[in-house]
Amino acid sequence: MHEHDVIVVGGGGAGLRAAIAAHEAGADAAIVSKLHPVRSHTGAAEGGINAALREGDSVESHAYDTMKGSDFLGDAPAIETLCEEAPEDVIQLEHWGMPFSREEDGTVSQRPFGGLSFPRTTYAGAETGHHLLHTMYEQVVKRGIRVYDEYYVSRLAVTDEPAPEDRTCHGVVAYDIKTGEVEGFRATNGVVLATGGLGQVYDHTTNAVANTGDGYAMAYRAGVPLEDMEFVQFHPTTLPSTGVLISEAVRGEGGILYNSEGERFMFERGYAGEWGEVASRDVVSRAELTEINEGRGFEDDYVMLDMRHLGEERIVDRLENILHLAEDFQGVDALEEPMPVKPGQHYQMGGVETDENGETCVDGLYAAGETACVSVHGANRLGGNALPELFVFGKRAGYAAAGEDMKTAEIPVGRRGEIEEGDVEVPVSVGTTGGDVAADGAGAVADAESVLERAVERERERRDELMGREEGIHHAEIRAELQEAMTRFVNVFRNEDGLQSALGAIRRARDLYQDVYVRDPSETFNTDLVQTIETRNLIDLAEAIALSALVRDEFRGAHWRQEHQERDDENWLKHTMLSWNDGSPEVWFRPVLLEGEEKTYEPKTRSY
Ligand SMILES: Cc1cc2nc3c(=O)[nH]c(=O)nc-3n(C[C@H](O)[C@H](O)[C@H](O)COP(=O)(O)OP(=O)(O)OC[C@H]3O[C@@H](n4cnc5c(N)ncnc54)[C@H](O)[C@@H]3O)c2cc1C
Repeated sequence: MHEHDVIVVGGGGAGLRAAIAAHEAGADAAIVSKLHPVRSHTGAAEGGINAALREGDSVESHAYDTMKGSDFLGDAPAIETLCEEAPEDVIQLEHWGMPFSREEDGTVSQRPFGGLSFPRTTYAGAETGHHLLHTMYEQVVKRGIRVYDEYYVSRLAVTDEPAPEDRTCHGVVAYDIKTGEVEGFRATNGVVLATGGLGQVYDHTTNAVANTGDGYAMAYRAGVPLEDMEFVQFHPTTLPSTGVLISEAVRGEGGILYNSEGERFMFERGYAGEWGEVASRDVVSRAELTEINEGRGFEDDYVMLDMRHLGEERIVDRLENILHLAEDFQGVDALEEPMPVKPGQHYQMGGVETDENGETCVDGLYAAGETACVSVHGANRLGGNALPELFVFGKRAGYAAAGEDMKTAEIPVGRRGEIEEGDVEVPVSVGTTGGDVAADGAGAVADAESVLERAVERERERRDELMGREEGIHHAEIRAELQEAMTRFVNVFRNEDGLQSALGAIRRARDLYQDVYVRDPSETFNTDLVQTIETRNLIDLAEAIALSALVRDEFRGAHWRQEHQERDDENWLKHTMLSWNDGSPEVWFRPVLLEGEEKTYEPKTRSY
């Protein structure tokens, strides 16, 4: 068994920042990650980082844009914390050596991004995430923080009191991909989940194959609520071939979208007033799909994004990476031709419920980054707001897990404060896959060591059972069916029949999973086994997304419902919460917090 004060699960932007903070606070911190940190998906981030750094800009304006972008479903204390702390954290990155792009006078460059009222997106070419990861990883190495890479964390070691709010997390269980051993990691102070997104729930996504939402699923099975899971961001400019992202920076720099009739449809068909192509992502994605569905797309599948008029010099200076992506993944020379693009799954706004200090309702368990929902993005994330979230809330979670004195959070977590019970009727019974929950509420509370030993034992049994089956169905078949159903029914446009069909398909995937088997018998580097375990997580998360989408009968941000074409502030200024305490999901709600430190944010019509 390994033992550290703080265990950070995940070595992406959020995990690295959390580990550095925990170390700064004097804790012995370690990172446990299924990938080497610099292979984490943060490395794919292209466009940039929002922070109010310049004269003429302000924290208040960044906070307002973020709240408006969230369609008034973000929590003001979280949004204000993000916008207040982002500038000092960007400066910290600069001091650590992040190679930001610069103006002639040496100041850091900032570009316009969708939904921002000021050009406040700081960047390093179109490879911002790559540089961010390397800059932070250097700090991890410099500090001698232990990194266990190629360890797949599959279970949280939590006590199992009936109420999640009474439980404690004492560590994690991980499968050493190199040796095939299942090992326990005891965290004497805290565990920070920073496992990134869940794009693999869909078959057309900008996310890497490693983005299987393991952190959300593990927390969910330990009793931590998942918040606002229906809010999935679809990015309007992904390559049809692979889902590879063409950054919003292209539109920020002046790239234009047009349809098969040669119309610059964002303006000519009035989708977003004067915002045009730099409207928010949900708006542009819907506009593109409307064009395609009404027959003005190319090959009934995509529209065109053109940046040729920006000129070679500017493109090479600011968007060089885009040229390589378009050439390598779509065979298009973007200096000479427009790029075909269509919407693809990109980001999960919802996630593991936390407060501003990254704390969940389970004692000793924290979450940060895309896995967490604090909630700054509400119903729609603005481009450039995820990266600052990683370091602002990664840092706070790291400090809190290390036991630093933090200002008391204003956001309540768990079934505390004002809540409302919910109900949802579904055509199929949902939930439960072989009773494999991390905490079953049986109340067999034990000391930390026994809790960890029991968790390790259960994971060894699970590995042996999966490896022991000689025949069955392969995870890839289940995954493919699930992903196809999610892309078909729980996409940009949603309706009740489709969501019910998705839940039916998920139920079928659950049933098939009972007979899943691992083809590869190897003890070492058995990625077939890892992917089999990940597939179970994808099923649980697909269900959480589809169920939450069915419950929310209004149109807000990224969640469009055919039968409910209006934002319904009277009934829906609240977060959708899903808890899985006793083997089946329960729905409940928590009111959104619109009261900030200085002002209350009044919901306004979001017309862009
Ligand atoms: C193509 C693309 C471009 C983007 N561009 C921008 C941008 O320009 N600006 C912006 O603000 N946002 C951008 N985003 C969003 C942003 O980059 C991500 O939300 C963010 O980087 C996620 O960081 P993270 O640290 O939460 O997760 P990740 O960077 O994905 O890291 C997750 C880590 O968890 C580990 N892990 C996962 N599961 C397990 C497990 N079971 N056991 C052990 N380890 C595990 C992985 O190994 C990895 O180290 C972009 C997203 C994409 C997909």
